[in-house]
Order: sequence, then C-alpha cells, then structure tokens
Amino acid sequence: MNRRDFFLTGAATGMVLGGAGGYLLKAGQKDGPAGAAKSRQKFNWTMVTTWPEKFPGLGTSAERLAQRITAMSGGELTVKVAAAGTVVPAFGSFDAVSQGSVEMGHAASYYWQGKAKSFNFFAAVPFGLTAQELSAWIHYGGGQALWDEGYANFGLKPFLAGNTGVQMGGWFKNEIKSMEDFKGLKMRMPGLGGEVLRRVGATAESLPGGEIFTALTSGRIDATEWVGPWNDLAFGFHKIAKNYYWPGFHEPGTGIECFVNKAKYEALPAHLQAVVSSACRAEAEAMLGEFNRRNGAALKTLIEQHGVILRRFPDDVVTALGKAAADVLAELEGADDLTKRTYQSFRAFREEAISWSRLSDQGFLDMRHAIMRGKS
Ligand code: CA
Repeated sequence: MNRRDFFLTGAATGMVLGGAGGYLLKAGQKDGPAGAAKSRQKFNWTMVTTWPEKFPGLGTSAERLAQRITAMSGGELTVKVAAAGTVVPAFGSFDAVSQGSVEMGHAASYYWQGKAKSFNFFAAVPFGLTAQELSAWIHYGGGQALWDEGYANFGLKPFLAGNTGVQMGGWFKNEIKSMEDFKGLKMRMPGLGGEVLRRVGATAESLPGGEIFTALTSGRIDATEWVGPWNDLAFGFHKIAKNYYWPGFHEPGTGIECFVNKAKYEALPAHLQAVVSSACRAEAEAMLGEFNRRNGAALKTLIEQHGVILRRFPDDVVTALGKAAADVLAELEGADDLTKRTYQSFRAFREEAISWSRLSDQGFLDMRHAIMRGKS
C-alpha cells in the first residue's frame, strides 16, 4: 500500500469508524445499552377527535388509546388528545390529519362519506355487519387493504380502534307506526343509514354528537339516533323524546377508527409503527367490552328512573327499510371503482356471515332467550 492508497483507505475507514464510533461513544460506551434507547428520536403527536372531551366510551377510548401508545412506546411516541372543537371542529378532523397539521384522528369513517362512499363500509352499513363480523372482515376478509387504498388517496393510514356494538334505533318525539311517519321526519343519522331515511321521505342530517341535544330541543330535528343507552343517557335525549326504538337497523356494530397521517406514520421506526397498530387493536377490544358492560346498566336507568318507552320498529317498517337499504347499496356498485370493489368484498363476506351467525351467535342467543326469558 503506497502512501496515496493508505491515505484514501484510511480516510474512508476513518469516516466509517468515526461515524460509528461517534454513535457508540455517545450511545453505547457512556451509557451502555439503555443509552441507545435514550438517543432514539422522540415524537410528540396530537390526536384530534370528533367527540366532546372525555365523552363516555368514545372520548374516553381516544384518551386510553393515546395513553396506551405513550406507555407502550416507553415515551418515544407521546400522544395528546384534542377533543372536538379544541384544535379543529369535530368534522374538520379528517382534513387536519390529511394535511398533516396534526398527526392522528379518532372518529367513525362514515363521517367522511362525502370524500368517498367506500368509507361507509368501515364504520356501519344498514343491515350490515356486527362488531365481531366487522373485525373479521377488516382483519381477515380483505377489508383493511380496501380501507388502506381509500385512505391513502388522502395521505392517511387507518386502523380499526373500537366498536360500539349494536346501536339503538333512536329517539323519536312521536311514535313510528308505519312508513307514513317517516315522511317529512327530520332525523339525525349519519352514513348510509341517513341515505336510507332520505329514500323513504325523511330528512337526514349528520350532526356531530355535541350538537344533537340542542338540535333536538330547538326542533331543528324531530328524532335522533346516537349510539346506545350508555352514551344516549349521557347526552340526555330522554328529556326531549321518550320513544326509544330498537334495534339500530342502520348500525349493527359501528367501527371506530384511528387514522394517522401516512407520511408521518411511515417516518416512524418499525417498532413504533407496531406500537400504534397493536394499541389500536387492543383498544378495539377494550371499547367493545366497556360498551357491552355499561349499556345494560344504563338501559335499566333509562326505563326505571326516566320513564323511557322501549319500542320495536313494526315488522312492515323493518321490511320497507330493508328494501330501501338494499337499493342504496345496489347503487354503490355504480359508484367509483374502489367503492364498487369494497361493496363487492363486503357483500360476499356478509353472505357467509349470515349463514354462519344463524347457527352460532343468533342460534345461541335465540336459544338462551327462550330458556331464560320464555318465547316472547
Ligand atoms: Ca349512531
């Protein structure tokens, strides 16, 4: 090796060693293995939501998800929740995360059906999927890939992060006796359920939760659905409307989402990406469990302490709503290509789910009800 070669080789080697040595001295030799973690980049993220601050079940789940991500990451990724109206209005969440002014959002994907019709399928479809079935379709039936594709068009990465379980049909100031009673009815109902209502002559509005009570009190709407006994009791709809209808044909198991700015998600190291996805999956289970526990207790309170009247939609009304829902879905086949493919995937999965659930959940629940409560 002549002097020139030595110089070149040595310089090159020195650069490499110098770079690595600098890292080792800073992260390894001084502090040992723990020092490597200390030197990792830290991220401080904001999660905007469509829910009022700490709203039971939904807002509290967003808080828990943020805490879960922060704890699982060992503080490398700190998430702070900003409730509806604090950083952006409830329905400004999607655009804020899409544009990257904040990193994460917490909502239900049907709020964004104005962006793309396919987004309805990841929240709720009238006469669609239960919580268990929605999870099965998203995680094992191709749903996640279709959701990823749709949200990627807006620079977002979505995760299923919760489920409310079967919702209630809603609060009506006046009784629903026939389809005539839907004519001219003004009701709060988001997503494809709202499309079904329009199809049968009603007016449907998609108001954020925090605006519903005022709208119902002022007469802007005559009826509203929200979630179920636990959440509905918290808003106090029983003070204005006493007729509480079941079940929620329009939302048989509404998926709650956490969506992340895609570029910011992809800039995370792999272990923090895994923290985000795993925390969402864990929180999805936690939310559904909490809803199932608290809805039963709140239902008792509504009936025994507030004189709420439980009513089931008449059979001919359910039949007519089912027909309208089928028409609304069939028309989605003629929408954009992604909505068509999403609908086709959903429809194939639902066909299988109907056959299986008849023997499993439905078969068992019918049997249990007959044994424990009689054949009413
Ligand atoms: Ca709802």
